[in-house]
Amino acid sequence: MRDLKAFAKECGFTVAEDLDPKTLKFLPEVRDMCAADKCQHYNRSWACPPACGTLEEWTERVSHYQKGILLQTVGDIEDTLDFEAIMDIAKTNAESFNRLIDVLLDEDHLDCLPLSVGGCTRCKKCTYPDAPCRFPDRCFSSMEATGLMVNQVCTDNGVPYNYGKGKMAYTSCLLYND
Ligand code: SF4
Repeated sequence: MRDLKAFAKECGFTVAEDLDPKTLKFLPEVRDMCAADKCQHYNRSWACPPACGTLEEWTERVSHYQKGILLQTVGDIEDTLDFEAIMDIAKTNAESFNRLIDVLLDEDHLDCLPLSVGGCTRCKKCTYPDAPCRFPDRCFSSMEATGLMVNQVCTDNGVPYNYGKGKMAYTSCLLYND
């Protein structure tokens, strides 16, 4: 099996560190934040709540995996209103994520569950709720959508969540069995 952390960095991630799936907690208060719809993905995608499944279903699904890695793209920003830089970091993160996952699924046939950042970005417009998902085997929910508090997951696994003034980090993860 390939070195996943090294390969994640080859794919463009800044950080790739071990994650213990046993630390993951699926919290109703995170779902409540989704329902507030600040990200404008709630009830608009198969990959987001409520369509992506209940907290109990995610707990059960994740219990299948013994290992994990936390993935981060960290970039420079002028300040929190530097939307151009923030969007660039988000784009780099999405490209790295898709590059990594496509190889792991198509070439390595890895038994894995990727959890992304934000909503599913595979299609320009999601088919939800009128038609089935176009790419059910490439549609990944975000960590938040599953009920994970991302900063808590980072802390519990010894990885920084906040890199300080002038930095922005996007965090995703991959759960897997080898
Ligand atoms: S793959 Fe396309 S249809 Fe499926 S959840 Fe993602 S955006 Fe929606």
